Amino acid sequence: MRLVLLGAPGSGKGTQAARLRDTLGIPHVSTGDLLRAAVKAGTPLGMQAKSVMDAGGLVSDDIVLGMLEERVAQVDAKAGFILDGYPRNVAQCAALEALLERLGQPLDVAVKLEVPNELIVERIAGRAAAEGRLDDTPETVRARLRVYAEQTAPVADHFAEIGKLVTVDGVGELDEVFQRIRKALPA
Ligand code: AMP
Repeated sequence: MRLVLLGAPGSGKGTQAARLRDTLGIPHVSTGDLLRAAVKAGTPLGMQAKSVMDAGGLVSDDIVLGMLEERVAQVDAKAGFILDGYPRNVAQCAALEALLERLGQPLDVAVKLEVPNELIVERIAGRAAAEGRLDDTPETVRARLRVYAEQTAPVADHFAEIGKLVTVDGVGELDEVFQRIRKALPA
């Protein structure tokens, strides 16, 4: 199964993706995690990406696509993957489609987690306290939510147009939301 998880920062995508990985036995591919690893390792790409990430902006499409291509080419992704944090804009949608077509591995479904903005801000504040992510400051969070509304929200419209979008209520206990996602997945 190849699936994309969509949702605002703090919508619970990362947590749900990890659960799906454990249940479905396919890797969780998070472009945010790939980028954070590159920053931590101090690679040239990571150094380039760091300031953009700290400001809550989007890292260049080329950099992220390169990392993604490398990741999905690995052997554990042959049986499928859960994509988290990609695509983030309409150009990335087209790049993903082209990549998956080249690999002969079309996307099965895009799942969008819906969570109201007030709750998102609360959740991110909690995560900032727990994980100490540098891009979880109030200003950066506002910037990331703005980027999401302007650039990432249209991604869901694209998947709806091609008939691959399912929308799931992301408010509730983790288990509850997880069960909703499972029910929404194609058999
Ligand atoms: P995330 O962990 O998905 O919230 O991503 C953290 C940060 O990494 C984002 O705020 C962006 O700066 C960057 N990032 C992650 N995925 C992408 C992407 N697909 N395109 C551009 N930037 C990304």
